[in-house]
Amino acid sequence: MLAELLTGWLDAEGELSFFVTSRRDPTLMPVMTNRTAPHGGPADRECAQPAVPFGSDELTELDGGWLVDVERGELHPRGSRLLLRAGRIEAILSSGQDRSATAGAARRVDLGGRYVVPGLCNTHCHLQIVMPSLLPSGHQNRLTRRHGWDQRYRNLTECTLRGVTTVRDTLTHDLRKTASLRSHSSRSRPSGPRILQAVLVAPLGGVFTPTRGIRQRIFDQLLGWSTLSYDDPHSGAVVFAPNADAATVRAAVDRAIDERGADAVKLYDQRERLLTFRATATLMSERQLEAAADQCRRRGVPCTMHALTVEAFRRAVRAGVRSIAHLPSDGLLGAQDIAAALAAGVIVEPTVSLLYCLAWHGQTGMPVERDRLQLLRNLRRSSAQAVAAEHWHPMLAPWFLAGLARSASGRTAMLGGLYDGRRIYDYYGGIVSHGIDNLERLVAARVPMACGTDAGAIPCTPAMVDLELALWPKLLGEAMATPAFMLRAATMTAARALGMASGAGQIAPGAPADLVAYERNPLEDGSVVGSRAAAVWRDGEMVVGAERLAADKG
Ligand SMILES: [Zn+2]
Repeated sequence: MLAELLTGWLDAEGELSFFVTSRRDPTLMPVMTNRTAPHGGPADRECAQPAVPFGSDELTELDGGWLVDVERGELHPRGSRLLLRAGRIEAILSSGQDRSATAGAARRVDLGGRYVVPGLCNTHCHLQIVMPSLLPSGHQNRLTRRHGWDQRYRNLTECTLRGVTTVRDTLTHDLRKTASLRSHSSRSRPSGPRILQAVLVAPLGGVFTPTRGIRQRIFDQLLGWSTLSYDDPHSGAVVFAPNADAATVRAAVDRAIDERGADAVKLYDQRERLLTFRATATLMSERQLEAAADQCRRRGVPCTMHALTVEAFRRAVRAGVRSIAHLPSDGLLGAQDIAAALAAGVIVEPTVSLLYCLAWHGQTGMPVERDRLQLLRNLRRSSAQAVAAEHWHPMLAPWFLAGLARSASGRTAMLGGLYDGRRIYDYYGGIVSHGIDNLERLVAARVPMACGTDAGAIPCTPAMVDLELALWPKLLGEAMATPAFMLRAATMTAARALGMASGAGQIAPGAPADLVAYERNPLEDGSVVGSRAAAVWRDGEMVVGAERLAADKG
């Protein structure tokens, strides 16, 4: 039935589902996202604030492994030890240092020669979107709805198993759903990652903040969906009038932070609407952008901007945002653009995982970058089975694989021929050409990069940091995308993009004790970063590996 197909598709196409929410969703929990409860008072602006209480005040000593200095890209000297207390790294002791300093350690953990790095961060996720295929059928959509929450929970567990200790949700229509995942994350065993929430601040008429005319309302009503008003304190978007002055935009930023509990503010600079790609969406003016970015700075909250064009990149840099998501894909950045980005200290989150499902041979109007497309094809061939098995729910994994096969074969017609999925590929096709050219230029100029997967976009889940990083040396070359560079992007630079406390994303005294122990040296082999870990600590609590490390000892 067409209506069902359409409903299912709209639901699964998460970006559209941003503004529709089911009345019947049984998993919606009555959890307030406001900072006043239950995550601490409004004064707790520090994003590194743990979602669960710190562990005990007991001292824990990690011994017998290699500590990785991600900033310098080298190992600490042999015999270095770590002291953890109250969820933080208390000290790094050198081998020569007196053991009496740690004589009181209640607990000693022998790392058994493993390599310890800071917990990984994924800066760009859409935790609610679960969509194994970009071209789903009605049947696949029903399965996705049935197993969606299992898949979301699975994603969080998989993050922990791979050492991804912090993720940021960068767009959701209903903040209660993220709150629900956050609560699951702290209750489950092993506990999931720390979840940060970005709230969209946008003019009415933007891509994710459409005006809700009578047609939209009838449509929602017919399909059994209810819309959450932007004024609702649970809405993931705070809107203002397109001609709003700077003070109004600043007030919208304040509202995102104070009322909605935003850990970050998201700005969305794209004229083209989703699916139709008609350039009719309202953009923020330069003055509005500047006011929003400046208010974020004043409030100590990071600001991240979606930018897919050179012009959007320039606007983001001029406004002074903390980070830019995605790559300009409609042209090349010039030397001036890159100098300006460096001077502004902006961080880029390239989210190249998007190419895994968006770049195909023979796309209409797409510049054929043969080598890169071939490389992506090879990567899909060698990794798809593992991605399906490790990351997707057993009921959804076959549809992930089927979706890839369908895209590869060019059968892109959907809804009985009413919609051609090729439009999606065409729109994003520039990433594989100009986008990657720009990435090369930015990395060569040492513009800082942070790791985000755009989880929710196919086939990414929040835990697929390894896939994102695997693409970097393939597309940029191993001389440019070294293991140390990738490790930095997934730890300290990502933590900075997320606005976490200073020292976060590093093994440093005072930093949150988010740590991952890998079997192999991640400075020699970049594929270690984001792979299944031997042990993981979050806020000083060992959430993975206790039995394993104890067994080693015995
Ligand atoms: Zn996104």
